[in-house]
Amino acid sequence: MRNLIITLLVALLIPVVANAHQSANVAPEGRKRVVVLDPGHGNPRPGKAMGKVREADIVLDISKEIRRQLATKMPDLDVYLTRHSDSSYHANQNTDNRMRAEFANSKGADLTIGIHANALENTKVNGCEAWVLSLDEALMKQNDSRANLFADDGDALNINDLDTKSMGFIKVLTRQLDNEPRNRMFAQQCCDNIQKLGMGNLGVKSGKIWTMLYYLEGHGVLIEIGYMTNPKDFAYITSEKGKKEIATSITSAIISFFKGLDAISSDDGVAVEETSTSASSAATTPEVEEQAELTSGYAIQLISSTYEVDIRDYQFKSYKGRVRLLMSTGKYKYKYCYGSYATREAAKHDLEEARKTFKDAYIVYFEGDKIVTK
Ligand SMILES: [Zn+2]
Repeated sequence: MRNLIITLLVALLIPVVANAHQSANVAPEGRKRVVVLDPGHGNPRPGKAMGKVREADIVLDISKEIRRQLATKMPDLDVYLTRHSDSSYHANQNTDNRMRAEFANSKGADLTIGIHANALENTKVNGCEAWVLSLDEALMKQNDSRANLFADDGDALNINDLDTKSMGFIKVLTRQLDNEPRNRMFAQQCCDNIQKLGMGNLGVKSGKIWTMLYYLEGHGVLIEIGYMTNPKDFAYITSEKGKKEIATSITSAIISFFKGLDAISSDDGVAVEETSTSASSAATTPEVEEQAELTSGYAIQLISSTYEVDIRDYQFKSYKGRVRLLMSTGKYKYKYCYGSYATREAAKHDLEEARKTFKDAYIVYFEGDKIVTK
């Protein structure tokens, strides 16, 4: 029986992994790149409201401004809004959010951006933050009490309500592996750009399963532009100047995102480059220290997975040719790692750099091709 289950699982997983590479967000020949802007909420849900000023209206204004700017700054891009007026897709908030993702999927969105504004009782809290989907180990292990924090929030899903054995969930994990590094980079850039406007920067967050992000097939990020409950943020994000400048910040991040995506798709197939230049680079660039491969020692784990992925996958682009697979036990047994160091101290130096792209990177100890606990 056990063997039968394993066979079934393998049979189920193979097509998913194969598809992962087809869905690597490279626009097929001749197809225009697509961005979908999702201004959160809409009648009957205004989002947060301060008197008559409603989140739904602020984020709609900003989304429309982004579309206007993209029309001149990146005219080749197809831009869609999930809504153009004070409206929504469904009476149920979670269904509404799922339908927004489905709208983006139907347009073949390369990138979808949910735009919201925040609120908290503590009026001192301020600044922009951006959310990515990350069904990481910590989230999967999250206990009921924490999950229930979000149970009533129609913008998010409860991990306990999801069938983690279902094909749908496995597909989401596959997409996450494909999209998360680039989602994080985009999210970070939006926050950094908005910070330059004088806003606070609360950075990139995960650990909440936003419904809209969960059902997305392409890249996606949800941005909370600032706090409606903070007087300074509120004055800025509701002003014409503020809305326009925030739109400009997000627009410029969108442009960088698509330039990066196109650079990668035109860079495919040059994997031999590194081996052909390695001989001469050793001679001309003595400052590049060759790392001796150790049979045991420390490495930096960039990402882990429930199934095997190609180490040449584009998400590892910044570590091209240097990522290796180490095996571990447990659910996330495929560990994609970089480097080989004699001491933990030596690995720490590169960990900081790795975390710029892979936020959850950390140091592991290996023997041969296995990770062992020391
Ligand atoms: Zn909102």
